[in-house]
Amino acid sequence: MIDGVTRRGFLGAGGGMAALSLATAASPAAAWLQDSGAPRAIGQPMPRGAELPATPPRPRRPDSVGFAIVGLGGYALNQMMPRFAEAQRAHVAAIVSGNPDKLRRVGDAYGVPADARYSYETFARIASDDRVDAIYIVLPSALHADWTERAFEAGKHVLCEKPMALSSAECERMIAASRRADRKLMIAYRSHFEPHNVQAMELMAQGAVGDIRLVRTEQSYRMGPTSPSENWRVNRALAGGGPLEDLGIYGLQAALYLTREMPESISAATFRPANDPRFAEIFAHVSSQWRFPSGAVAQLATSYDSAGANFVQVQGTTGALFMDPATNYSGQRMWLQAGGRREFNPGDPGVQFAGQLDHFTDAIRDGTAIRTPGEMGLRDLRLIEAIYASAEQGRTVRLNPDGTMRA
Ligand code: NAD
Repeated sequence: MIDGVTRRGFLGAGGGMAALSLATAASPAAAWLQDSGAPRAIGQPMPRGAELPATPPRPRRPDSVGFAIVGLGGYALNQMMPRFAEAQRAHVAAIVSGNPDKLRRVGDAYGVPADARYSYETFARIASDDRVDAIYIVLPSALHADWTERAFEAGKHVLCEKPMALSSAECERMIAASRRADRKLMIAYRSHFEPHNVQAMELMAQGAVGDIRLVRTEQSYRMGPTSPSENWRVNRALAGGGPLEDLGIYGLQAALYLTREMPESISAATFRPANDPRFAEIFAHVSSQWRFPSGAVAQLATSYDSAGANFVQVQGTTGALFMDPATNYSGQRMWLQAGGRREFNPGDPGVQFAGQLDHFTDAIRDGTAIRTPGEMGLRDLRLIEAIYASAEQGRTVRLNPDGTMRA
């Protein structure tokens, strides 16, 4: 079970950063940062409780790929940056932040040279910084598209956090920019590098539950008091519709990588309680039902206002697969019920963070195919758009095989 009272609970033992970021966002210093209207990158305070390394980590190999981290928030500082030390050939080469004090403290802790510490205003100079091969975009979601384009303009490869962007049109722009620059684009879908999820994909491909009939996913937690001026996650301009882009996207992904099908139709519902500042701009719940060409059905739910859950279940003709928690930072559990119960412990979920870094560096250095490319992020945004369209129009939306909506 997951306690689910906070996002930290949702994400598991290692998931403190976003709960911390909520705390940060609620601090008085944060309010002015969101007031500008149009989404743009603006420095934020150091996430409360962020732990910086006592000794700067060093690259392990001479061909290690240098990353510039854009956005020093909770996820960057508490999850990803510490995990570079576990990667075989990825290191933090530069940092980009709008907060000079944070830039100094993080730069000192990670041994980033003073001339490899950029502000949002000086970012373009990174084009001539040969220490930087790739840019890791870990900004609020509305900023992913613009900063990915800027990174490609600077001639760098891009690892972009999920959701790839807030619309399929933005995703298409990002993919086009990647092609123009002839540089790689990967979406940081970490579950593709997490041992339980990888084994679940293999089990489903082997027919471990027979023919898949029903997939159920839920990713939820109850968000504490906040408002769009305090917290980008409840601000529509920065976060889109809310929990679906943030948490529900893990269930959406699982439904796709476990069935290995695209839905042919989607019907969905959203809910927004009245007079709740948390949901003045975003949805509290989003649920959808998908029908696949095989006849299988997926039921997806995600919420920022219900007791925590993070599970994925697949029911087939001969058995069922259960993952609970399914997509946390840590603590995954997975079992198969098929003529008896069989538990799987394929490895430490913690490897997913460095795993995706090494996967991207393999693509950059050796030209290997990217498991989670921009096209996958685009596909997912098309499905998110279909979910919102169905809910808004109160009808079932029919889809083309690429996820675009049929007229
Ligand atoms: P956060 O609020 O903790 O940090 C966001 C950071 O972005 C800020 O600290 C600041 O440095 C920067 N920023 C620049 N302009 C900003 C603005 N206008 N408003 C707010 N911050 C601004 O958020 P986070 O949890 O670190 O999330 C950042 C990104 O990482 C999001 O896209 C999120 O979806 C993604 N994320 C991914 C995972 C995962 O498991 N893959 C987990 C958490 C977050």
